[in-house]
Amino acid sequence: MDDHKDFRILVIDDEAFMLKLIGKALHRLGYSQVFTCSGGQSGLDFIKSAPSPPQLVLLDLNMPQMDGIEFIRHLADANFTGSIILISGEDERTLQSVEKLLTSSRITVLGYLVKPVKPAALKLLIERWRPFVSARQQSSIKTYSVESVSRAIHNAELVNYYQPKVQVASGEIVGVETLVRWQHPADGLIYPDRFVPLAENNNLIDELSYAIIRQALGDLGGWQLAGLSLPVSINLSMENLKNLDFADAVFELIAQAGQSAEDITLEVTESRLVQSIKVALDILTRFKLKRVNLSIDDFGTGHSSLSQLRDFPFDELKVDRGFVHGAWANKKLHAIYSASLGLARQLEMTIVAEGVEDLDDWNLLRQSGCDQAQGYFIARPMPAQDVPAWVADWEIRRRELVAQASE
Ligand SMILES: [Mg+2]
Repeated sequence: MDDHKDFRILVIDDEAFMLKLIGKALHRLGYSQVFTCSGGQSGLDFIKSAPSPPQLVLLDLNMPQMDGIEFIRHLADANFTGSIILISGEDERTLQSVEKLLTSSRITVLGYLVKPVKPAALKLLIERWRPFVSARQQSSIKTYSVESVSRAIHNAELVNYYQPKVQVASGEIVGVETLVRWQHPADGLIYPDRFVPLAENNNLIDELSYAIIRQALGDLGGWQLAGLSLPVSINLSMENLKNLDFADAVFELIAQAGQSAEDITLEVTESRLVQSIKVALDILTRFKLKRVNLSIDDFGTGHSSLSQLRDFPFDELKVDRGFVHGAWANKKLHAIYSASLGLARQLEMTIVAEGVEDLDDWNLLRQSGCDQAQGYFIARPMPAQDVPAWVADWEIRRRELVAQASE
């Protein structure tokens, strides 16, 4: 799988020798499609006029005419969905802030390089880029119509993927989170950021959620037949919490599937504002009374996570990946992660850390007494039929992890 060497990389820096240096380093790493621009405006012109936009941009933050931040804003406006590596002479703290700034756009930040750029560091970042490529490649500029999303719902083109959650102390599997994909007949697998907002804005979100929930309940039943108990978590939209009939419809689906509410967790995130706290509270409280578990998702992002905690009866707190991955090495992240942990403890909620990507992340959770973990270190999201084989594989890894921990 070396075809990533064909990917198009654009380097933007006002210093000619930097362009030369980085270009050379990239060529040496085997990348042949490297383009260079000496400023933000020419970079934008290049991206807009290129037959296919670059998948990766290496960007100098400090440039005389258009600075890096401004460039990124234009890039986001132009619906750029590739990845970026930031280059700067600034200290790491500043770069981290910029990285944060970018997470609200659809641009993936692979990381940053401090000048003088070392080829080894460049190599490391680009290697991190590879796994993203297949997923990001297809998320080009194409947008979908409301009608096509509605058709997808009714033609059963939506497919649930599942990402496991495990106990940190024992490694035991506690359930799976449902992540919807659109198996598009022509375009392949489409990620939810490209159709869920459309459904939210066009009154399709309840239908979409019912389709996801119905499928999740069916898969839950399938795993039970295979002897696996895998409670499912399902992401809700704030838009679901506007319609008082929503809870009844979900109870109906659970009853039809012959499942029990205890095996269902609903994850709520405040990606958009709650229109009516009263209605949302009504719906969530009824779920709670029927023993459906409630989880506050992506905790720490958005603008009123704390007031949500105050207002709604959550059982579980999922710390956003942004405060988990790398927190062992970053003071700020660590402080936020620890505070979230303390908050969950005091409120007697289960705490789940998202974005656990490597052994260092895992060890931090273990040492700090986090309850549950989810992330690439454990497993990537997978189709329902792959789950049983993963469960068997994990049992072996789990034993190794527990054995290592007790050494
Ligand atoms: Mg979630």
